[in-house]
Amino acid sequence: MTVRPADALDRIVYLMDRVLADGTRVRAFARARDVVEATGDDEVARLHAAGKLTDLPGIGPTTAKVIGEALDGEVPSYLEHLEAETVLDVGEGAELRAALRGDCHTHSTWSDGGAPIEKMARTAIALGHDYMVLTDHSPRLTVAHGLNAERLVAQLDEVAGLNEELAPFRILTGIEVDILEDGALDQTEELLARLDVVVASVHSKLRMERREMTKRMVSAVASPHVDILGHCTGRKLVGRGRPPSTFDAEIVFAACAQFDTALEINCRPERQDPPDDLLDLAIDWDLRFAIDTDAHAPGQMEWQVHGCDKATRHGIEPDRIVNTMGADDLVAWAADHG
Ligand SMILES: [Zn+2]
Ligand SMILES: [Zn+2]
Repeated sequence: MTVRPADALDRIVYLMDRVLADGTRVRAFARARDVVEATGDDEVARLHAAGKLTDLPGIGPTTAKVIGEALDGEVPSYLEHLEAETVLDVGEGAELRAALRGDCHTHSTWSDGGAPIEKMARTAIALGHDYMVLTDHSPRLTVAHGLNAERLVAQLDEVAGLNEELAPFRILTGIEVDILEDGALDQTEELLARLDVVVASVHSKLRMERREMTKRMVSAVASPHVDILGHCTGRKLVGRGRPPSTFDAEIVFAACAQFDTALEINCRPERQDPPDDLLDLAIDWDLRFAIDTDAHAPGQMEWQVHGCDKATRHGIEPDRIVNTMGADDLVAWAADHG
C-alpha cells in the first residue's frame, strides 16, 4: 500500500501531537506537509527523481527522506517508528473509554487550535465518537484569538454546514468561555443561551486571593449557562509549571452540586486537572464529571484514555460522567440542569 507524501507527513504530525512532542518539531513537519500539498504530487515526484526535494522551502533531510520513501512505495521508516512508539496504552480505564460517546472540550483554528473544525470532527469519528463539542475560546483571551460574538455566529454557520455533511456524527456547538475576574462570563447572554454546551474556565489572574477566587468560580458555576467547569485549578505540570489556584473547593463543589454543573477531568498531560485530592472531594459531593481532552490538535483527541484511567482508579461510576450520554441526552441535560 502506498501512502501519499502529504498524508505520511500529516500522520507524523498526528502521532507527535498524541505524545505532546516539542512544538517546534511538530510545526516543522506540519509546514513540510503544507508545502508538499501546495507543490502537488507530480512536481514533488519530479523533484524526488532529480534528488532535489530539499530545494523546496521547509524541506530538510528528515522530511525529504519521509517524502522519498513514500514515493518509492515504502512506509517511511520515521513514520513506522512513531506509530509504534507513540501508542497510548489504556489501562484500567478501557471499559470506561469504550463507554464514552464524545468529547466536550475541543479547539480548532478558529481560536488557538492547530486544525480546522472538519479535521477535528473527522478525527473524532475515527476514534469512534458520536459527537464532539466545539469549544473555542472567548474574546478576552486575545492570545488565543478568542471569538467575539460576530465570529462565533459565523462559526455556528460553518458548524451547521459541516453537520449536514458529517451526519449522523454531530458537532455540538459550544465555547470555552473565560470566567472574568468578577465571575462574569466573557460572551453575550444570547449566544451562551444558544450554544449546546458551555465550558467555563479561568485563564487570567490565576494567583487571585483565595476568597476572591472562590467567589469568582461560584458565580460562574451558578450561571444557568455553564454546564462544565474546565480545568479547575489551572495548574501546569511541565516546563516551568504553574501551581494550582487556591480556592475553597468545598464551596465551589457545593455550588457544582447545587446547580448540577459538571467538573471537568482535563486529560491534557501537562494539566491532569483536578489533582487527586480534589477529585476525591468532588466524588464525595457526588458531582457529575466530563472527561475532556481539551484537544488543540487531532492527535490530542486520543488523550481521553488518561482521564478514563484516572476516573476508574477513583471509582467514578460511568453514569456520573456526562459524555457517556448520547448527544440528545447531553444537550437536554445542558439545557435544563441547575
Ligand atoms: Zn482552558
Ligand atoms: Zn481549552
